[in-house]
Amino acid sequence: MATTEKRDYYEVLGLQRGASLDDIKKSYRKLAVKYHPDKNPGDPEAEEKFKEAAEAYGVLSDEEKRARYDRFGHQGMSGMGGFDPNQFSDFGDILGDLFGFGDFFGTRGRRSTRAARGNDLRYDLTLEFNEAVWGKEITLDVPRSATCTTCSGSGAKPGTQPVTCTGCGGRGQIRYSQGFFAVARTCPQCGGAGKVIKDPCATCGGAGRVREEKQISVKVPAGVDDGSRLRVGAEGEAGYNGGPPGDLYVFINVREHEKFTRRDYDIHSEQPITMTQAALGGEVRTDTIDGAESLRVPPGTQPAQVFRLRGKGVPFLDGTGRGDHYVHVAVRVPTSLNDAQRALLEQLATLEGETPPGEKRMLDKVKDFFTN
Ligand SMILES: [Zn+2]
Ligand SMILES: [Zn+2]
Repeated sequence: MATTEKRDYYEVLGLQRGASLDDIKKSYRKLAVKYHPDKNPGDPEAEEKFKEAAEAYGVLSDEEKRARYDRFGHQGMSGMGGFDPNQFSDFGDILGDLFGFGDFFGTRGRRSTRAARGNDLRYDLTLEFNEAVWGKEITLDVPRSATCTTCSGSGAKPGTQPVTCTGCGGRGQIRYSQGFFAVARTCPQCGGAGKVIKDPCATCGGAGRVREEKQISVKVPAGVDDGSRLRVGAEGEAGYNGGPPGDLYVFINVREHEKFTRRDYDIHSEQPITMTQAALGGEVRTDTIDGAESLRVPPGTQPAQVFRLRGKGVPFLDGTGRGDHYVHVAVRVPTSLNDAQRALLEQLATLEGETPPGEKRMLDKVKDFFTN
């Protein structure tokens, strides 16, 4: 399980903000061809790049999603309808759409006879501030498609077998010539599978797959932040034709805290102190994520001065330590004074050489002289 920072979609496609839809298509096409899994078999980095580009394209090519992304960034996307199983699915379709013919790279769908990896899934998870700080073991109900156990994914009624397609002789494709091009088209009769199911499985209706709601336990590590993404390996959708399952991606959303603001692994908070505490110094109790801590305020503390409580911040994801907690003091000036307090403060003002507000200032005395 790992977390990664999400890259800017424009950066992923190597474009400036405000790029035209045409540029977005061109850019994506280039990346998709370069990183396509069929051209980079067994290369997880290429696969990651391919998906990243597809995700960026999925958003930036959609007017509404793009507008939202431009305004709110990734933050704006995570609120898009909670669970979105189509987020990472069907790259083949996007490409088919782009290139104008469906099986440029070979069909990656169910009907292919080739084993293919299942689709990845996305799950949006909202955590309380403290849950993200300290981590949490959580059980997610993930709706996903799984291999049908009745027919073991074949789609054929138990005891029967899919039969060879008569339309293509089992090849799944039909070739024909167009000028000097030899073009291969997916067989319409079997949809490219090469086999046809005569007696479909009653459980899945011949699809070989069923919907299920799987409870998946996820250990959210201490220190995750808003926008973190957790990958839970092999908990995505079932693979096709015996292929491996996809992954489950948990997108973390963290609620704000009424007292604490988080910046990476550091926490910031405000601590009100009185005028006299600021001048004379003293000890105050201040809230941290560990509970109330005592903070020594030195004499002569200035308004908005910041004190650091070392190691009182958020635990690092890798478990090697913790960030710091910054306490921003806010000096409160009393808004009403009783007679005793006023007398004391006036006495202080006199000692400091100021004219207490009770006595008229020199300029006012001069004014009085002329108006009398
Ligand atoms: Zn079945
Ligand atoms: Zn066929």
